[in-house]
Amino acid sequence: MWLLEPCGLVWHSDWGIKVYLARACILAGMDASRRPLIGGNWKMHGDGAEAIALARSLRSWDGVAEMVIFPPAVYLSIVADELGDCAVTVGGQDIAQEAQGAFTGQTSADMLLDCGCTWTLVGHSERRHGMGETSAQCDAKVQQALNAGLNVMLCVGETLDERDAGQATKVVRDQVEQSLGGLKSLDPMRLAVAYEPVWAIGTGQTATADDAQTMHCALREMLAGRYDASSATRTRVLYGGSVKPANAAALLACPDIDGALVGGASLNADSFLPIASAAETWKASS
Ligand code: PEP
Repeated sequence: MWLLEPCGLVWHSDWGIKVYLARACILAGMDASRRPLIGGNWKMHGDGAEAIALARSLRSWDGVAEMVIFPPAVYLSIVADELGDCAVTVGGQDIAQEAQGAFTGQTSADMLLDCGCTWTLVGHSERRHGMGETSAQCDAKVQQALNAGLNVMLCVGETLDERDAGQATKVVRDQVEQSLGGLKSLDPMRLAVAYEPVWAIGTGQTATADDAQTMHCALREMLAGRYDASSATRTRVLYGGSVKPANAAALLACPDIDGALVGGASLNADSFLPIASAAETWKASS
């Protein structure tokens, strides 16, 4: 039986020797490329002092789940500095679709890298639905990010009207196909997909674990059809939409839910860390 010590070491009780291996790879023989991924989208909240304090409260994270936070662009550098070489990484909430030039207010891929980012969100629903961002623009952003060396968390999801009309899967499929239109091959280490039903974001309403699992499974099939089964199997598909400590475990227990993109509950370590720990509990016991 594999045992996990609080200090992070993993060992096998029958063998009587400690095996000093990365927990993420060894637990339950899980595929390292499906290591749980937990994102914290801070949106346009807080000030500089709060950003530093929140980053500081996450510094001690050393769990199984990979954790990436998405602070407001103007605080990326100070948050990255505060995190230093700890396990939590930083990403942009958005990225320009061009490399450089006269694009007032935009932040390029190189600028995000310069600020210490390793990830960027693309196509968050508040950009798609609040600011009219199209999947074609998302496609250009995905290309910019990946070509520059940033990892991408592509957000997709249907509105309530679309779900009620029975169009949820079609809408998500169109978003995936068009937002990845220029992506010829899928690198599961560089691209994650966040399924975020628009009606669940910031509303307190969450998809049921069954509904979320059904869409995640469909998403993985879309990726398999578009690319190949092996890459699709290794790609992390996250759920987002009012995830909280109280519902995280049930969602993360679904076989095709590989993590969470968290908005409101990521603004406080007391709610964000338990969500990340919920991923750990599930992976450790599966
Ligand atoms: C989000 O911003 O991506 C999100 C899911 O927000 P919330 O968790 O607040 O619903």
